[in-house]
Amino acid sequence: MKIRMIDITNINHGFNKFRRAIRISENVSIDYITKRHVAFTVFDDIKKTIHSVLYKSEEKPPYDWSCDCKWFSTRGVSTGVYCAHIIAVNIKLSQDKQMLRYIEKI
Ligand SMILES: [Zn+2]
Repeated sequence: MKIRMIDITNINHGFNKFRRAIRISENVSIDYITKRHVAFTVFDDIKKTIHSVLYKSEEKPPYDWSCDCKWFSTRGVSTGVYCAHIIAVNIKLSQDKQMLRYIEKI
């Protein structure tokens, strides 16, 4: 499956959120992969929270990325502004080519 990555350099995400996303990108792991979906687990070691980020390849951007955190469910993503967890997953995938290849082989 091909992953449509988001533009992590988009300044609209906000600097503090981006800094947090860089930190928690260390704690991104794959939960499960199906033919069309990938679920990631993102652990914030300072806030002690765990969230699930879901990528749905059949959805049109920006609806292909979603997260179960409160910020995401209240603000939504219709504006194309993503939560720190989704940004963290995209940072992880841009750095960990092995993980990206593993997903794209499925
Ligand atoms: Zn989130």
